[in-house]
Amino acid sequence: MISASALNTLRYDPALCVGCGLCADVCPHGVFAMAGGVAAIVAGDSCMECGACQVNCLADAIAVESGVGCAAAMIRASLTGRREVTCG
Ligand code: SF4
Ligand code: SF4
Repeated sequence: MISASALNTLRYDPALCVGCGLCADVCPHGVFAMAGGVAAIVAGDSCMECGACQVNCLADAIAVESGVGCAAAMIRASLTGRREVTCG
């Protein structure tokens, strides 16, 4: 696991990523982007610890101490219409 930023608890293990793209789809702050078939942290300081990426990562590649806020991510995903996401 690598830490995304000193500003939050987000951690990510690229070795576990299966490239589904869900984390990039659900994140309301553009923290993740797909690069070369796997997720990459491109804006680690922007994570607000909503937890949406962790909940939707079936590979357990993401860990974050989340509070509330997943609803915002769900709304974003719904508006884009690309994926069906959950908040656990
Ligand atoms: S949700 Fe998990 S498996 Fe899917 S791209 Fe993101 S880190 Fe990789
Ligand atoms: S916890 Fe929320 S804000 Fe942080 S990277 Fe995951 S989806 Fe984005």
